[in-house]
Amino acid sequence: MNQDRRDFLKTTSVLAGASLLSSFSDLHAGQVYTPQRNDARMKLRFRPYTLELKHVFTIATSSRTTTPAMLTEIEYDGVVGYGEASMPPYLGESQEGAAAFLSKINLVKYENPFEMETILNDIDVIATGNPAAKASVDIALHDLVGKLMNQPWYNIWGFKKTTTPYTSFTIGIDKEDVVRQKTKEAAEYKILKVKLGRETDKMMIETIRSVTDKPITVDVNQGWKDRSFALDMIHWLKERGVLFVEQPMPKEQVEDMAWLTERSPLPTFGDEAVQRLADVKKAHGVYNGINIKLMKCTGMREAHKMLTLARSLDMKVMMGCMTETSCAISAASHLAPMVEYADLDGAVLISNDVFDGTKIVDGRVTLTDRPGIGVKKI
Ligand code: MG
Repeated sequence: MNQDRRDFLKTTSVLAGASLLSSFSDLHAGQVYTPQRNDARMKLRFRPYTLELKHVFTIATSSRTTTPAMLTEIEYDGVVGYGEASMPPYLGESQEGAAAFLSKINLVKYENPFEMETILNDIDVIATGNPAAKASVDIALHDLVGKLMNQPWYNIWGFKKTTTPYTSFTIGIDKEDVVRQKTKEAAEYKILKVKLGRETDKMMIETIRSVTDKPITVDVNQGWKDRSFALDMIHWLKERGVLFVEQPMPKEQVEDMAWLTERSPLPTFGDEAVQRLADVKKAHGVYNGINIKLMKCTGMREAHKMLTLARSLDMKVMMGCMTETSCAISAASHLAPMVEYADLDGAVLISNDVFDGTKIVDGRVTLTDRPGIGVKKI
């Protein structure tokens, strides 16, 4: 470095120091300056909320008309990030359990919200399980950090907002006339996701095919127990324009599932079998793809890691959801530009949404330009 350059750097640093000092000139002697933001501390708030479903929702194992949820907020320096836990009862979480878990979280001890890895790792080890409750904090923290950076998460992750796929619209197991009616109501959607796994499987598909020839994906929710039966069904489904099969067999039947995937003429996706990051590696060679859901995997941070790992293993990825408000749906949608399939119709299935955010426009997952997860309260 030449002398001029050294002098320049020296002068610059002195000047920078001088200008900083002048702005602190009103501090009392001995008082340590702390930037405004370092004075602030994060505060977590939460309240239970019950999602009302527009239709009775039936899958292979259960039926229901409401979904218990928990709405969260993290406030920091006057900025509020929103989050949500959606807890369908069959997954084992509850509003009481989530409240108990969230009460154990102390965000005040962290200096700032940008330490996301540390904060979310700490929360993850407070107790095992509680993935939806953990996701409610993860989502609120992501929303908050995005807002502080004034950027939506698809920008922070480097994804192109407009490359999102169409979302499928879910048709639950029902009577023939109801299935026909729901298929007609789904006119806006380009792909239908059909719940199978009971003795009515062929009726479900034939009824839908009597109304429309649009592409179908099927979710068996572990309903087929016999691998040869499953393989026959998949061949039958392929002839009827089905794109892929989600969780055809019980997650415990790993060998049967690997056997089926090897022979299946359609791609298989693991959903119940793939909860968290560690499950992605186990699913490799057993399924062709994975279904990532924020409520299973503890939120956006781990979902992003799962996406990256699945890609490195050359596996397909779909982004799924529970019945959720537009809060959690919007959070999930920031990963949608990078997945083959989206099943993000959760907010469309409820009648009491409390957020405006990512929407389904002409069947496509359509993100907003707002920072964070891109939602506002309605
Ligand atoms: Mg599924």
